[in-house]
Amino acid sequence: MSASEPVEPLAGTDQQKNSQDAGKRRESFSSQNSQTAKEFIESQMRLEADAREILPYSFDSCTQALGPLRQILFACLTCNPPSDKPDAPHTSAGVCYSCSIACHGEHTLVELFSKRDFVCDCGTTRVSSGLPCTLRTDPKTGAKGVRSQEPAPENKYNHNFQNRFCGCGEDYNAFEEKGTMFQCLGLGTVETGGCGEDWWHPECLIGLPRNWYKKAKAATEDVEAAKQNGEADDNDDEDTPLPPGFPAEDDFETFLCYKCVESNPWLKRYAGTPGFLPAVYEEGGLSKGSEEQRTSAEPPNASSEPLTNTKKRKADDDDTTEAKETDNQSQT
Ligand SMILES: [Zn+2]
Ligand SMILES: [Zn+2]
Ligand SMILES: [Zn+2]
Ligand SMILES: [Zn+2]
Ligand SMILES: [Zn+2]
Repeated sequence: MSASEPVEPLAGTDQQKNSQDAGKRRESFSSQNSQTAKEFIESQMRLEADAREILPYSFDSCTQALGPLRQILFACLTCNPPSDKPDAPHTSAGVCYSCSIACHGEHTLVELFSKRDFVCDCGTTRVSSGLPCTLRTDPKTGAKGVRSQEPAPENKYNHNFQNRFCGCGEDYNAFEEKGTMFQCLGLGTVETGGCGEDWWHPECLIGLPRNWYKKAKAATEDVEAAKQNGEADDNDDEDTPLPPGFPAEDDFETFLCYKCVESNPWLKRYAGTPGFLPAVYEEGGLSKGSEEQRTSAEPPNASSEPLTNTKKRKADDDDTTEAKETDNQSQT
């Protein structure tokens, strides 16, 4: 992946820095013993309303019957363990939100957030463990629970289904990730040279090493350490900032990675035009789109897609993820 390629941020937002937030939220909630029943009910109703907004599908039915959908997906690492090597053959599977709870609630899940045109794989031959889908019924017998059904042939998979993310292919660990990751609009599938709506570290988009911030920080700290030798490294908890030259999170709605741009070269003509930021290049942030019209990447804009809610979703999604991961067991 050549880093000199354009990356264009326009919008996405994602983050996974919610883990700490969720922890805090949970704590404060449990300490509120004094809240009244009315307050409690109101807060629950608010949560339910939020949940409906985020997850418009019913929680107790699998989305499979609805056909290909843009929906929140989970990969089950228990049923379909990732292969040791990135290139090893692997059968991937994605399950819908309801199935993640009802059928895989006790398993290790990784949330993939939204993917387009996807049909739930639960209860199909793609589920390597052979686990049945407990939410669907056998079309012939009417009995609850199906397994080894034919999977939808049109589903597309990228390495996210093996818990690998970004051009760097790193395993995602919500508790260790300190920076914001962004989801590419994904105009290309893996098969066409695109990323398949992958999640990206901003530094990887522009060709910086993953540890760029540590290096940058070390450099400045050296200078300061010379002055006073004190409490230095306590700052491991701080979030990794966006790399220099990278557009601020609020400045774009969605973006296209260099893979998707290269696989859809016609996109380049939009870079820097109204509604699109100029391409972002390695080392240097935004190109001076206007003065030199270099072709490059461009990010489609918010106006064109049903992405308007990506941002809002983001934060809320985090809530659901977190809740799932931690509450799965206690909840059922
Ligand atoms: Zn399902
Ligand atoms: Zn499972
Ligand atoms: Zn299921
Ligand atoms: Zn990366
Ligand atoms: Zn992409």
